[in-house]
Amino acid sequence: MSQFWSQLVHTLTPYVPGEQPKVDNLIKLNTNENPYPPSPKVLAAIAEQNNEKLKLYPDPNSDLLKQAIADYHSLETNQVFVGNGSDEVLAHAFQALLKQDAPLLFPDITYSFYPVYCGLYGIDYETIPLNDQFEIQPADYQQNCGAIIFPNPNAPTGRLLKLDAIKEILEMHPNRVVLVDEAYIDFGGKSAISLVNDYPNLLVAQTLSKSRSLAGMRVGFAVGQAHLIEALERVKNSFNSYPIDRLALYGASASFKDEEYFQDCCQKIISTRETLTNAMKEIGFEVIPSAANFVFAKHTTEDAEKLAMALRERKIIVRYFNKPRIDQYLRITIGTDEENNALIAALKEILGK
Ligand SMILES: *Cc1c(COP(=O)(O)O)cnc(C)c1O
Repeated sequence: MSQFWSQLVHTLTPYVPGEQPKVDNLIKLNTNENPYPPSPKVLAAIAEQNNEKLKLYPDPNSDLLKQAIADYHSLETNQVFVGNGSDEVLAHAFQALLKQDAPLLFPDITYSFYPVYCGLYGIDYETIPLNDQFEIQPADYQQNCGAIIFPNPNAPTGRLLKLDAIKEILEMHPNRVVLVDEAYIDFGGKSAISLVNDYPNLLVAQTLSKSRSLAGMRVGFAVGQAHLIEALERVKNSFNSYPIDRLALYGASASFKDEEYFQDCCQKIISTRETLTNAMKEIGFEVIPSAANFVFAKHTTEDAEKLAMALRERKIIVRYFNKPRIDQYLRITIGTDEENNALIAALKEILGK
């Protein structure tokens, strides 16, 4: 019945998210969710709105949340844009800022939603290969382009780019928007948010899905100078006036008021990541140094897809990408220490160690 489809729909290759299995008792290490619950303050703030107030529309401008993010990062509220997950924020940025006459640049190994948005919005793009160590080399971005986007740390490699390298890219292309997708920055990186007042071409996106344990709530944001934010607002207000529902508005705002809980969760994940990295190295894995809440690793002798299947038989789900350059790697989300110990035990059993 696809004769009813628009021409555009015929051309789309949609993004495929990691699976969300409908069965219990799985150790789920495949979509980089946080193993710890949201802050109790977030849950209390949501509970306070979970009543007859839901009959009213939420604030279309999400002022409470913009103020919380602006305060947290010492910015003005007109430097903050919020959306229904950072995926939505990114989508608006592709349409509002990254669609230009020259091609958009991003790494060959990166978040696989980027080419999907290019398809949806008709954006020409070119991929820039990471080096053999899976590092972004700023010099490779010295070429004609309409804009640049990359995650930092990169996904699915977990590798961090230093702020000096980001400055180099920003200064190479002062008239092109550079979007740094910081979905994982809280797990050990330095945020480029500190640079937004110095660089009118810098937009930084973050999400509450990973480090703030709120993947189920769908809130992300972008910060930059006011002229960039205005472009995003124009697209948002031509698409959906209320992307942040009432529960999300209050829950997300409360998250920025519980710094101690947030730091504690991030520290636990960083510490578990180091334990996992060392344990995997001991049983023959090469592990890319990660600044994220996952590791990207390949075994020196065993096939990655077979390892993923053997883990699945033991009720542990990890992410495997059957793609060029990375088809011998597994991406494993950092779970609790308990989940981590079960993972290490399963890997040892599979490898006969
Ligand atoms: C998870 C992720 C996102 C999307 O996060 P949401 O806020 O849950 O939509 C964006 N970029 C990268 C690189 C991610 O890994």
